[in-house]
Amino acid sequence: MSVVAPETTPKEPVLKVEDMVVEFPLDGKRVVHAVSGVSFEIRPGETLGLVGESGCGKSTTARAVMQLPAPKSGKVIMNGVDLAALGREELRRERRHFQMIFQDPISSLNPRRKVADIVAMPLVIMGIGTPEERDARVREVLQAVGLDPDSSLQRRPFQFSGGQCQRISIARALASEPSILICDEPVSALDVSIQAQIINLLQDMKDRYDLSMLLISHDLSVVKLVCDRVAVMYLGRICEMTDSETLYRAPAHPYTAALLSAIPEADPTRPPKLAAMKEGELPSATEPPPGCRFHTRCLRAEAICTEVVPPLVDIAEGHQAACHFAVTD
Ligand code: SF4
Repeated sequence: MSVVAPETTPKEPVLKVEDMVVEFPLDGKRVVHAVSGVSFEIRPGETLGLVGESGCGKSTTARAVMQLPAPKSGKVIMNGVDLAALGREELRRERRHFQMIFQDPISSLNPRRKVADIVAMPLVIMGIGTPEERDARVREVLQAVGLDPDSSLQRRPFQFSGGQCQRISIARALASEPSILICDEPVSALDVSIQAQIINLLQDMKDRYDLSMLLISHDLSVVKLVCDRVAVMYLGRICEMTDSETLYRAPAHPYTAALLSAIPEADPTRPPKLAAMKEGELPSATEPPPGCRFHTRCLRAEAICTEVVPPLVDIAEGHQAACHFAVTD
């Protein structure tokens, strides 16, 4: 099948998100400030992890990148193309370059359709290839994800396990030869015994097809294993971003330190870690706290934190943090 290569030079980011804002109206009066000025980029072959508590806006960020729906403002530049500037038809054509893998593989697959149709669907919708070329591509990607095409093509999703359904989802995402996969909690709905297999599969597919990846996860151990860089989100904003090794070894932002301290200790003989933030729930995104949004839970908060928004700034090469009192080496 002839496939048009994405127009990306090796040094250009595959994905560049600039000052993205996503808001939802609520009950006609209030607004959910789901994502408030998020910026990041992903380079060819790179995996960026996006982590944070449930409700921090990481999945909304992923969907806004996919234009599902488009953000309220800001830019999403994919392979040099600003997606927000595209008409409906142009966006449809562009979608072949970025595909999404969802959290719940079973509900993300149409139960009435056969696997052959499910995996071929992006190719059909985007008008890619002849029927023969599409059939060949479907067989190829099914094989790549570890499913036997001959015994899978005519079956329906309910005839597969959760792990196998996620393999079908991954095959569908790979069918159009994307340059980037957006993976939204791809293993959190699966049995623990299956999670490692799917993570390994995603890694293999990334290497085999030369992909970049945005991995949304609340599981910091998965992110540590897979990601080159990590962005930590809190209540709609990125509070720290750096390479995985630095983030886990020397977190600069109090919220990152708190998240890391919550990872269960594998060695029961080690003393428990100290609480790293005040107890309490994530504040409401309809009324985010002024100044630093983390100040209501931060043990290091001072008066300035309640009034002045800390910008995300470089604190070392390749390391950004949004904190008036970021910890530097
Ligand atoms: Fe804590 Fe202040 Fe830093 Fe926010 S800016 S994380 S409240 S110390």
